[in-house]
Amino acid sequence: MAHDGSMCRSSESPIERIKSGLADLPAWLARVDDAELGEPLVDGRTLINRLEAMLAEPMRRFEKSGAYRADGALDLVAWLRWRCGLSGGAAAERVGMARQLESLPRTQQAFARGDVGYQHVVAIARTADHVGVDAVRRDETSLLKAAETLDAGQFVAVAKNFEHRVDAAGALAEANRAHQRRYLHFGDPIDGLVRLDGLLDAEGGAIVRTALDAFMLPGKDDDRTAGQRRADAFVELCRRRDGRGHSDGAGPRPVLVINAGIDTLTRTDGAPAGALEGGGLLPAETVRRLACDSAVSRIVGLGELEHEMSHASRSIPAPTRRALSARDHHCVFRSCDRQPTFCDGHHLKHWVDGGPTRLENLALLCRPHHRLVHEEGWRLERGHDGRFELTPPGKIPAAARSA
Ligand SMILES: [Zn+2]
Ligand SMILES: [Zn+2]
Repeated sequence: MAHDGSMCRSSESPIERIKSGLADLPAWLARVDDAELGEPLVDGRTLINRLEAMLAEPMRRFEKSGAYRADGALDLVAWLRWRCGLSGGAAAERVGMARQLESLPRTQQAFARGDVGYQHVVAIARTADHVGVDAVRRDETSLLKAAETLDAGQFVAVAKNFEHRVDAAGALAEANRAHQRRYLHFGDPIDGLVRLDGLLDAEGGAIVRTALDAFMLPGKDDDRTAGQRRADAFVELCRRRDGRGHSDGAGPRPVLVINAGIDTLTRTDGAPAGALEGGGLLPAETVRRLACDSAVSRIVGLGELEHEMSHASRSIPAPTRRALSARDHHCVFRSCDRQPTFCDGHHLKHWVDGGPTRLENLALLCRPHHRLVHEEGWRLERGHDGRFELTPPGKIPAAARSA
């Protein structure tokens, strides 16, 4: 063994030296100016990549030795899962990459220098899997050049494009296999939530993403998370399945059939929840919100009110709704600027309680804010000057305070 460092250092393995460097790292980073952390972050990321590169060859040697069997593992992937805590997918990805790198020395060298990242090399290894290592070697230089300049997501597109050029039939077969795996699963409502999960092929994913993006823009002072905005956008998109944009919000609404008695709608103590046709229960206040400007076309089981409801396909007739949109222009909630097409008409005094469906008793509220007023207890009142006043739950409205 070569003794090229100090006595102290030469007795330590490189792994020990890396460990002691890592132990010093937090204190050193703590002394770096916040604004100067960019370089250390880049360096740290490069080190992680270089370390991944350095492990590829030992992983191959360890696999060939079969020594993982001494630990009772059936293969190296199982051993990595067990000893290194990797998921099956992450372990298989590293083993596959290590095997391919044996035949791709230029990629291995660029990886070890930190010129290309782990995800780039995984993409190159996958491409070698798909079209053969010889095809990749012929174009390795140009692939590496792209990998050095593009982020990993962009580089995957380059690698896929390369596969298509080398083997169009293979690329098509792979896309067809991917297409076969598509599915969308809708769970039953549990604790008030329905779980969706699924896989879309690339084309389907792009169509859905583009459609959702159009509905995802945050409003002013919008405190919804991106995930919540995406979920709302998905529902909004389905709400408009007739495909016609009604900018004043007066167009047809989706049909939800809710079984609810009058005692639920009037929030009588002891009243049952509303039952959605198709499964799921709705609290009384949600039924009241939906009935406010019927996203519901029918509420059944209403007794004396059923007749009234069945006469109008919606609880606010289209001309009234148009006038409401013309008066309020957008959601009336504080600084909210969501357009009428994203809004419901809200009855200040609910029609169930005898409030008239006339402009003076209506306000335009976007759907998240309509929900705040009903389900989350905000008060919405309209003063004599026509201005709306909102009071959070538990606060006394200004009008009552000054009286
Ligand atoms: Zn309402
Ligand atoms: Zn709003």
